[in-house]
Amino acid sequence: MEISTELEDNVRQTLKKINLNKKEKILVALSGGKDSTTTAHLLKKFGYTIEGFHIDLKIGDYSERCLRAVERLCKDLKVELHVYDIKNETGSGMCYLRSAIQSNKKLKNCAICGVIKKWVFNKEARRLNADKIATGHNLDDEAQTFLMNISKGSPKLSANTGPVTKNVSDKKFIPRIKPLYYIAEEGIKKYSKNKKLPVVYDKCPCALDSYRIQVRKFTDTLSKNEKLNIIKNFEKLSKKINRGSINICYCETCGEPARKKICKRCELMK
Ligand code: SF4
Ligand SMILES: [Zn+2]
Repeated sequence: MEISTELEDNVRQTLKKINLNKKEKILVALSGGKDSTTTAHLLKKFGYTIEGFHIDLKIGDYSERCLRAVERLCKDLKVELHVYDIKNETGSGMCYLRSAIQSNKKLKNCAICGVIKKWVFNKEARRLNADKIATGHNLDDEAQTFLMNISKGSPKLSANTGPVTKNVSDKKFIPRIKPLYYIAEEGIKKYSKNKKLPVVYDKCPCALDSYRIQVRKFTDTLSKNEKLNIIKNFEKLSKKINRGSINICYCETCGEPARKKICKRCELMK
């Protein structure tokens, strides 16, 4: 079977498995990279109701190229694009925000950026009345996350992930879907090139010290089936470690859904 057809069929099956409704408004978190671009392209192709959402992190020339790519994608797909300019919203770009946090907390670049982005996605998706947030996470990302959580001794951290968020039900929490959950990174790269999608293929210049990069070196040596095995075994395991729904409260500082009194983002910004 042609790689494009195989990939599209696989994503269709995932969307069917999670019962995604074509009338729901899906906000696609667009970074400018191949994964989120392919996610938006496929959701639109399959007739879902999407809008694009991009966080302009102000990481120099890289962010400028990412913004141009998502603008071009949304124009081509004829979908509305919402841009969240981090400098306008917080007074600083991601590099400055991160350095300020790292001056008193020992955290890696992506750990900080990831927490802030997740917070923005949920808040803005709710403001825009979205029913779901779609991200471009792929099979490699998910296998890496699971292995990272296992090696840190925290497999429970993976228990709520899957092609759709599980066990979290709260009126302020917008569920997240990952249509490329079962698709290996290499296949997405080939697909996006084949379809000539507007993609920034360079890696983010700030992803230098991530623990994920070390785990990625290992997952890059695995075949697609071996990565699928990791995910499928994790799904079996997650049924066992999954003990019901998560208690959500609201952050005392920002009012966003949180697992503790203060959400992770406000904890970082203190
Ligand atoms: S690679 Fe890391 S620093 Fe760069 S945008 Fe992604 S999470 Fe942020
Ligand atoms: Zn908060």
